[in-house]
Amino acid sequence: ASFFQEVEQAPPDPILGVTEAFKKDSSPDKLNLGVGAYRTENLEPLVLDVVKKAEERIMSQNNNKEYLAVEGFAPFREVTARLLLGDDSKALKEKRVVTLQSLSGTGSLRIGAAFLAKFRAGTTVYISNPTWGNHFNIFGDAGLETAKYRYFDAKTIGLDFDGMVEDLSAAPAGSVVILHGCAHNPTGVDPTKEQWKKIAQLCKDKGLFPFFDVAYQGFASGSLEEDAWAPRHFADEMGLEIIVSQSYSKNLGLYGERVGALNAVVSSADEVPKVLSQWKRIARATYSNPPTHGARIVTEVVGDDALFSEWKKEMEEMSGRIINVRAALQKALESRMPEKDWTFITRQIGMFSYTGMTKEQVEHMWEKWHVYCTKDGRLSLAGLSLSRADYLADAMVDAIN
Ligand code: PLP
Repeated sequence: ASFFQEVEQAPPDPILGVTEAFKKDSSPDKLNLGVGAYRTENLEPLVLDVVKKAEERIMSQNNNKEYLAVEGFAPFREVTARLLLGDDSKALKEKRVVTLQSLSGTGSLRIGAAFLAKFRAGTTVYISNPTWGNHFNIFGDAGLETAKYRYFDAKTIGLDFDGMVEDLSAAPAGSVVILHGCAHNPTGVDPTKEQWKKIAQLCKDKGLFPFFDVAYQGFASGSLEEDAWAPRHFADEMGLEIIVSQSYSKNLGLYGERVGALNAVVSSADEVPKVLSQWKRIARATYSNPPTHGARIVTEVVGDDALFSEWKKEMEEMSGRIINVRAALQKALESRMPEKDWTFITRQIGMFSYTGMTKEQVEHMWEKWHVYCTKDGRLSLAGLSLSRADYLADAMVDAIN
């Protein structure tokens, strides 16, 4: 008998499965609105100019291919924590920040999850409903209990703030709360600053531990500062301890380079080496040490004034293109189906539009229109162009009616 005979087929990943279906489709009309990866107006992947410039500099440095330290590239760790927490961060000045370079957002989340499973065994991790599906895999596979808190109100296509507060208030003290730092995936609906303040106060009053997932810094508002407001408020204004995972996949377009970090703001500088030693212990047993190239790119771009300002401009262009596409899609839908309120399309932020379309409606778009998006009705507008907005509107209206 085969050693593998008990192995069952794993279910396909709901997001990556969309790309697979798209690739198999030979129609010239096809549209991939599945994976959250930025495309140009010609629907091609984009390598940012600042990334090309940084790579030229890196090539001229004649670097070797030695291993990085388990905790990553030291200059990267410094710039990434500063980008997240800000130049004026109290926590950074007081040396209360732990930073480990890890394998982009996912890898950083996974190291954080393994750390919680080891040192906070028995804790429950509260995750927004809905969320990026991989959150459940990451925290569940690490052996943690997961639970959902209310987040989205289908009636208002906005935040169910009262539901969120009610669910988090009922969570046992010591529970961990996963918070999307900005540009909530899949809904594109974020709390306002006033609501964030209340969430921070709730975490403080109830002893809940905030774990931020920051995968879109700069992509929500176009401003790196604005998009990091929530974790900065929790750490510096409220004096809370937090963990934050960071990703450079979207904002620098470094998807396949796998560059990101896991950070913690702790209450005392004495705890920093201890926490870092445990994160290194987990990373060492998981992948040993992180890749070099992406970390060097981030360091060149974030650590250099000229490249940093160019990056901000390119990020504004990317988020600006998505804003234009949102407006075009909303207009196209309003002219086809004026009886429905489509303003949520321009109210939602980040890469996605969460349409409320059903699985059956989405399947109709896949089959009849060659339009591929996730079955929860999330459209990645980063994969739409102005010239295809009418086509998408036709497909959506046909699927809904
Ligand atoms: N967290 C959220 C909410 C995401 O949407 C993503 C990517 O889609 C990630 C984390 C991690 O992506 P990566 O591992 O490419 O950084």
